[in-house]
Amino acid sequence: MDETREALEFDVLFVGGGPANLAGAIHLMNLARQAGREIEVCLIEKAETIGAHSLSGAILDPVSLQELVGDYRQKGCPIEELQCRDEIYYLTPGGQFRLPYAPGYLHNSGCHIISLSKFCTWLGEMAEELGVNVFPGFAGTEVLYEPGGNRVVGVRTGDKGIDKDGSKRPNFEPGVDLMAKVTVFGEGPKGSLLREVGKRLGLFEGKMPQIFETAVKEVIELPESSSFHAADVSVVHTFGYPLGLDTKGGGFLYRMKDHRVSLGYVVGLDYEQSLLEPYQAFLSFKKHPLIANIIQGGKVLQQGAKTLPAGGYYTMPRLAVDGALIVGDSASMLNIQRLKGIHTAMKSGMLAAEAIMAAVGKEDYCAGTLGVYEKKVADSWIHKELYAARNFSQALSQKGLGKFITLGAQYVTGGRGFTDPMQIRPDSDSLKKISGSVAPAAQTSETMDLDGKLYLDKLTGLYLSGTTHEENQPCHLQIPDPQLCITRCYEEYRNPCTRFCPAQVYEMEEEEGGGRRLKLNPSNCLHCKTCEIKDPYQNIIWTCPEGGGGPKYSIV
Ligand code: SF4
Repeated sequence: MDETREALEFDVLFVGGGPANLAGAIHLMNLARQAGREIEVCLIEKAETIGAHSLSGAILDPVSLQELVGDYRQKGCPIEELQCRDEIYYLTPGGQFRLPYAPGYLHNSGCHIISLSKFCTWLGEMAEELGVNVFPGFAGTEVLYEPGGNRVVGVRTGDKGIDKDGSKRPNFEPGVDLMAKVTVFGEGPKGSLLREVGKRLGLFEGKMPQIFETAVKEVIELPESSSFHAADVSVVHTFGYPLGLDTKGGGFLYRMKDHRVSLGYVVGLDYEQSLLEPYQAFLSFKKHPLIANIIQGGKVLQQGAKTLPAGGYYTMPRLAVDGALIVGDSASMLNIQRLKGIHTAMKSGMLAAEAIMAAVGKEDYCAGTLGVYEKKVADSWIHKELYAARNFSQALSQKGLGKFITLGAQYVTGGRGFTDPMQIRPDSDSLKKISGSVAPAAQTSETMDLDGKLYLDKLTGLYLSGTTHEENQPCHLQIPDPQLCITRCYEEYRNPCTRFCPAQVYEMEEEEGGGRRLKLNPSNCLHCKTCEIKDPYQNIIWTCPEGGGGPKYSIV
């Protein structure tokens, strides 16, 4: 170890400050208290504050919250709308058709509309009050293993104060080695530490490839005169336009308090058309008459983007290894059929806490003992929900009306459908090559009519995400073969990174004399991970920038 590097020891280290780990840390402290045991628990989060990188729809099924904090409403849980009354629409370019019937899993009665960032802030405060050492602004950048072995013994946080060239700045602070008997990885989708642990310990072997969707989301303030505040419906889901039926995705609009709505559009990252731009699809959705009429006169308050794990049951990794557990979105536990993952994430964190307490009792933290967690998940309603939805994402990926026939077959057979399991290919394999000269996309976000208030270009939206990074630091986006970008990737796909990134991080510049150059704007990064997932050559590696950088979400 670097002799200037400090080491801190804990019983349990939670890596990531999302709902899975926050619920896990709170439950663990409660269990330890009930058992009369002293336990040292630490939780690190790369965002500047807890909640600042948390973004979701978000409709909360309170089943896990109720178990964690029985009187959550009395304890000040931030709820935007207590009751959900939903409608589902199929959108055509200029009209809509309201579905007279939808399967029960798409209904949200008993659920609450929340802001995930506010919700996580609230949970973070609760964890701190219970004695958890909560360290926001610290990014885990390296997994620590026992010398000569594969047992996870903690995480090293990133150095702060390294300049672009890798030299120390005057404010240099070495990262800290956070040592723990158990490390819980709850980094969200496509975690950069789990990527390395997964490779080293084969966590994903024998599983289907993890697949994802990318969501662009806004919170919009409506004028007081808007009739939507008093409308019967508080939740609108859509499919169809602008993606059509051959590409997976859809829109949502949820009512919030203070005359606000949460509006978002989700695109399945198994899309095939290289010229597709998810941000442009989001704007087209906003401009559809059904949505445009509701948000008319409004103003965007905050914008953000994030990926979500869509593969579910068949893509879940091994959940326990020597010294570590994997929870929540990192473990692909989102229920894509119900468009929800906060309740499953929280429950997984709580089950992990129970397994940890059992391991503390035995003073044994090997995979066999911690594997109680895997069994607890298998015996819980998480398994029941995810198993029923095991082929759902695959069915949605089918083209045209065939998807509805498959979904219908799954509905009547408890998720089996015509084939079980239906296969998945990695999102990076789905783009079709462009052959010969190609016509530019009919419309891009740059050619749309935008007003800078309700309809925003990417950079204005980025400004409203509050994203900042220390500019003078090494680029956190690694491109192992930059030459590939200007040769094969341009020829075969016209550099899709310039379109699938929602924050204009990637730009292809024409050089004098006819060449091209990939320009990176890493300080724009929203940490959504779309680029690492979708790049057809897997030539982008997302690493954690200096802790505290990134979006500063507070109401999304
Ligand atoms: Fe998302 Fe990658 Fe763009 Fe960052 S660079 S905003 S992770 S697509």
